[in-house]
Amino acid sequence: MTEGERAQRYDVIVVGAGFSGLYALHRLRGQGLRVRVLEAADGVGGTWLFNRYPGARCDIESVEYSYSFSDQLQQEWSWTELLPGQAEIEAYLNFVADRLDLRRDIQFDTRVAAMTFDEDDASWLVETAEGELFAAPFVVAATGILSAPLDPGIPGLDTFDGTVLFSNRYPREGFDFTGKRVAVVGTGSTGVQAIPVVAEQAAHLYVFQRSAAYTLPSPARAYEPGEFEGLRARYDEIRAAQRAAHVGAARTSAFSVLVDMACFPALRTASREEQLRAVEERGVLGALYWSDVLVDPEAGRLATALYGEAVARIVRDPRTAASLVPTYPFGCKRPIIDVGYHETFNRANVTLVDLRAGPVQEITSSGIRTGQGSYDVDVILFATGFDALTGALSRIDVRGRGGALLRDLWRDEGPVSYLGLQVAGFPNLFMIQGPGSPSAASNFLAAMEHHVEWIANCVAYLRDGGGRTIEALPSAQAEWIDEVLSFVTGSVLVHPDCNSWWNGANVPGRKRMYTTYVGGLPEYRRRCDEIAAGDGTGVRYTGFKLS
Ligand code: NAP
Repeated sequence: MTEGERAQRYDVIVVGAGFSGLYALHRLRGQGLRVRVLEAADGVGGTWLFNRYPGARCDIESVEYSYSFSDQLQQEWSWTELLPGQAEIEAYLNFVADRLDLRRDIQFDTRVAAMTFDEDDASWLVETAEGELFAAPFVVAATGILSAPLDPGIPGLDTFDGTVLFSNRYPREGFDFTGKRVAVVGTGSTGVQAIPVVAEQAAHLYVFQRSAAYTLPSPARAYEPGEFEGLRARYDEIRAAQRAAHVGAARTSAFSVLVDMACFPALRTASREEQLRAVEERGVLGALYWSDVLVDPEAGRLATALYGEAVARIVRDPRTAASLVPTYPFGCKRPIIDVGYHETFNRANVTLVDLRAGPVQEITSSGIRTGQGSYDVDVILFATGFDALTGALSRIDVRGRGGALLRDLWRDEGPVSYLGLQVAGFPNLFMIQGPGSPSAASNFLAAMEHHVEWIANCVAYLRDGGGRTIEALPSAQAEWIDEVLSFVTGSVLVHPDCNSWWNGANVPGRKRMYTTYVGGLPEYRRRCDEIAAGDGTGVRYTGFKLS
């Protein structure tokens, strides 16, 4: 028997049971398709299942960071906080899985190891790490953009006698830091959220900072009594505003920081008195909220200096305050919002280890050795981020036409795709929020729902006689990537001092390339719809080959 004959056959295989995979299952199943979801974890939730570190919280309002496709779900679920915490989001996804009866089509504890396109059969053969085989004409990679943990790559980790924790695969049962000497490595969104919470428990906390972060006070709070009920009654209006918003979020979010800045006067022309008044009145926000900071490099430099003054007003130790000031421009990394981050460095049990004064050299049996001394600790919590956007699919042996490996293509050409939906040479493989889509520059939920719907409509079209396969044309892919890059050329997003998961510079050896579509979700949706509708001559899906 051939592998294809041994395989369990479905119409669609969906990889991943996070936000995207759950909606893809619901939507495709609703079209009468036989769908199997393969999920490595033992439960639903994806990134919100794994990232259960202390302080984990979303930076987009709950009423916008939730499914909009079902008013029934909206009316039956009650959010308790403006910016939902990890536990509440995980509970929400379990509620959705139960309410829509999704679990019966999800196979948990099943990691996809390889996917190979069979050109004769026009189908994908999907092999799991356990050796099970599945086959389907279509695969939807709902594998997430921040799901492949980045190995910190520090020698000696296996010699450490204490406890090693990773924020992105944090223990289910949690961890009690009480009385422990703790090291947190990494000060991105994750580290900045975890550090104040760990500091409250630990005997001593050492924060190992390679790059300082621009971080702004979070508006996180519980809803007032009756407040959420008021919002729930206005979901139609809230969703309409969200759909029209450039970033897929019209209310408070990490992105609204960037949008709000445009409403302020220019920093370059502000007097010293006006600058100081802004910092006095609004702290670090006052340092950065000027209309020219993102567009004028000199204004950006002034803003960084002013940010340093604002931090120095909070953090009492001048050396620590100076270490907390970034050396790259604001806006080139995803904005970070925090709860009491800078204030944490005034605690007697917290030490900032600025790795710019001597990098980490190795992990020893008793702690971390750096170029500026050794630190003995009982616990190391790594908050070192992800092999983002392409990492999850690159860890699977994805072989398209002629046996070409997707990871090799991305290694050589950078993270290319057409619309972030497909890669040329990989027919019938759909990505949800692949590179080249608005994913990283938008509310993932809003962007994701659109992708699922576009893919579901495309599959329906093909099955109704449109063809057996759909495949991005290399020329359309190249033009799309050129267009995506044209938006950011010369902008702060591609500043050479900026090493970020946005441009892949955080992953050693990866081609540095910023491939997120920043033209806005409304325009992106319009383009995708136009492409699906075709060129007016009856040929649908412009830029794709259907056969
Ligand atoms: P990240 O932004 O990539 O930050 C990783 C941190 O670890 C950086 O400070 C990095 O330093 C440091 N690092 C990496 N390897 C290191 C090493 N070997 N030695 C020392 N330091 C090292 O990752 P993240 O904080 O997990 O956040 C990723 C994204 O997840 C965010 O941008 C956001 O989109 C999402 N997220 C969102 C929330 C939220 O909603 N509030 C919370 C958490 C995460 P360098 O900067 O020098 O590379």
